[in-house]
Amino acid sequence: MRVETLEILRCPYCGGRLELVESLFHRRSSEEIQDGILGCLCCIFPIVDGIPVLHLLPAATAAREQVQAGRPDLARRTMVGLDDEEGARAFESTADSNTATYRETVEALGPNFEGGYFLYRFSDPTYIVAEAVTRAVGATVLGGSRRAIDICGGSGHVTRTLLDLTSAPPVLADLFYPKIWLARRFTAPGCEPVCCDGNAPMPFARGAFSLAMCTDAFMFIWTKRQFVNEMERLVGGAGTVLIGHAHNERTWSPSHGQPLSPEGYAALFETIEPHVFAEAGLFADVVKGGPLDLARHDSAAALDRDPALTIIATRHPGLYTSHPLPMPTAATGELRVNPLYVPADGADDVSRGGRLRLRFPSEDYEQEYGACREYLPEDVTLDPAVTASLATGRVSPEIADLVRRKVIVDLPKRYY
Ligand SMILES: [Zn+2]
Repeated sequence: MRVETLEILRCPYCGGRLELVESLFHRRSSEEIQDGILGCLCCIFPIVDGIPVLHLLPAATAAREQVQAGRPDLARRTMVGLDDEEGARAFESTADSNTATYRETVEALGPNFEGGYFLYRFSDPTYIVAEAVTRAVGATVLGGSRRAIDICGGSGHVTRTLLDLTSAPPVLADLFYPKIWLARRFTAPGCEPVCCDGNAPMPFARGAFSLAMCTDAFMFIWTKRQFVNEMERLVGGAGTVLIGHAHNERTWSPSHGQPLSPEGYAALFETIEPHVFAEAGLFADVVKGGPLDLARHDSAAALDRDPALTIIATRHPGLYTSHPLPMPTAATGELRVNPLYVPADGADDVSRGGRLRLRFPSEDYEQEYGACREYLPEDVTLDPAVTASLATGRVSPEIADLVRRKVIVDLPKRYY
């Protein structure tokens, strides 16, 4: 972790500042802390492989004892959740490799790690809405230099969209250590991961952020009132709160969680009046290439029948308006053919181009994310010269439409 991040960290329990305990085992440079123990007025917490672990669940306590005993290697095993020697060694050899991919590292984390459909995440319908909303909100409220936090951001897929909107490293907060470890390494390089519990007070100072956001996770939080109050506290009076893809109590969806109704979500906010959007309208805006209309007022009926809602609370005068969705001119990672496509002739290499066919990894995937058919064509033919040009990373006019339709995706480097 960056030493300067200590300025915004606070103990989740006593609210006190956290400092590196210099008398205990630690490894640091003038700018970064690799391993060590943070202390406040009430507790001590470990920093494990550069990630502060600011909760007191059993793994955190065990990892803290291992750091104190001068065994940061064992502390990382504990936090990653690998207790058998063979699995731990397999993970460590991918972690030490400069060529291992995200996919290989996920595989090394073993069957208990929830990898899910990460390979297809960057083109799924939930993601393209989250990406567009995050970019519109972040570009408006971060001013190029203010700080954002992505809470319950998992392995950092949405956090990634914040990286080029501000010079301040976005904080990625999540309880699940291996996910944020992966995010820093692959998905959102440059983010500042913090391991903490979304059902507890947030371990950050009041007003530390201009944007506090949470996507596709809020319905799994039990302490919703505290969570929203905490988001409001983190952004002080002048910041913005964004909750994306919150499931709707009135309309069933897969992985339903414990959702609230649209009014139920709105009632959680005590200091900033929120706007609640039905995701279908935002999705339609993105599919047609923009603009993203955040000036809209969805009817109660539209909100009630939508499986997912987006909630924004801000006093920023420039947010509830129409936002263009500009096409980037260069990849932030690597341009690749969407892994949902396979060659129509049964070959296994899409990099030669030719005729490609959309193929879903499972029926479950198709049921949950089938709306991607609104932008992913069933069949597409790619000129071999086009696929050969992807390596340049340039989004040329010839491929802009394929990028917009997610036939070609901008993936993190070494993703799979
Ligand atoms: Zn404390």
